[in-house]
Amino acid sequence: MAKIDLKSLSLDELKEILVQIKDKPFRAKQIYEWLHVKLVTNFDEMTNIPKQLRERLSEISEITNLTVVDKLESAGGETSKFLFRLYDGRVLESVLMRYHHGNSVCISSQVGCKMGCKFCASTIGGFERNLTPAEMLDQIYQIQRISGERVSNVVVMGTGEPLDNYDNLVKFIRILTDENGLNISQRNITVSTCGLVEKMKQLADEELQITLALSLHAPNDNVRQQLMPIANKVDISSAIKACEYYYQKTGRRITFEYSMVEGVNDLPEHARELATRIKGLNCHVNLIPVNPIKERDYRQSESKNIQNFKNILEKYRINVTIRREMGTDINAACGQLRKSYIDQTSV
Ligand code: SAH
Repeated sequence: MAKIDLKSLSLDELKEILVQIKDKPFRAKQIYEWLHVKLVTNFDEMTNIPKQLRERLSEISEITNLTVVDKLESAGGETSKFLFRLYDGRVLESVLMRYHHGNSVCISSQVGCKMGCKFCASTIGGFERNLTPAEMLDQIYQIQRISGERVSNVVVMGTGEPLDNYDNLVKFIRILTDENGLNISQRNITVSTCGLVEKMKQLADEELQITLALSLHAPNDNVRQQLMPIANKVDISSAIKACEYYYQKTGRRITFEYSMVEGVNDLPEHARELATRIKGLNCHVNLIPVNPIKERDYRQSESKNIQNFKNILEKYRINVTIRREMGTDINAACGQLRKSYIDQTSV
């Protein structure tokens, strides 16, 4: 029988386990604290837990840990990229970004991705598997342990489509924001989706205070279909309606991500069309100069075109920022580091 994945359990589930093995439920809180506050990686480190209980726990459960394969630092020291190995040998990547307002970690939610967005490196090798809540948490825990720096913000914008791994994602968020755990504020968490509408609505109903980001990347279905296969199934207006619903339910401002690809989605008419679609919605547009990947010939928009796009949106009174590029010298675009590692090791 498979062992229980201890780090993926909520505090209540952990209490349940202790009841089942006829031990004291108050031990659950201690164990939970070892796992999610003190960030230990094995039972031996849980010094206030009786040896007998530790042995019993290790018979029925396990603590899965990520191990570091590689760590790259950007030239300015503001970005670190981590390549981690999972217990089954698969690899994933996470990024630590140091801002004035605190440290932000960008985590992966799946190994590989099935969404197939044309400009994204994460999708090239296809989908391998979902990450468990423990594996999502451990990206943050390991980075905090290794860097010795506190993580205050988390963005689920690495490899994978988080809403395609919905139950594990929600569990991960609840543990990460639990006051008995690392206690990261829900308001400091952003989940980015390519637009799985039903799951967006379900997330709205969870009563979480996290930010939802929609990867829009286009002002109309036609342009979106050229970049994102999901656009053949979900039209922009239903994705935007799901965002409106999310805002109604949570009061959280929506983020629209818009990666700027030269000649494809960066024309002034695209900015005007986008503005007409989203004006009136409490939102924020994040313009991302597309990070070219070697497998595709998309080019980044020129900075004057990005600036012009921004000016047009602002004329419509839309909040907009241009995302500062960080870590391009260390393959920091989604999936690039993992991809180059797999390419190197498989030859
Ligand atoms: N599956 C989620 C998370 C993906 S990564 C989603 O689709 O939102 C986070 C963002 O980075 C998405 O908006 C994604 O479209 C974008 N992205 C991926 N590769 C990129 C690249 N090479 N250049 C710029 N943005 C990219």
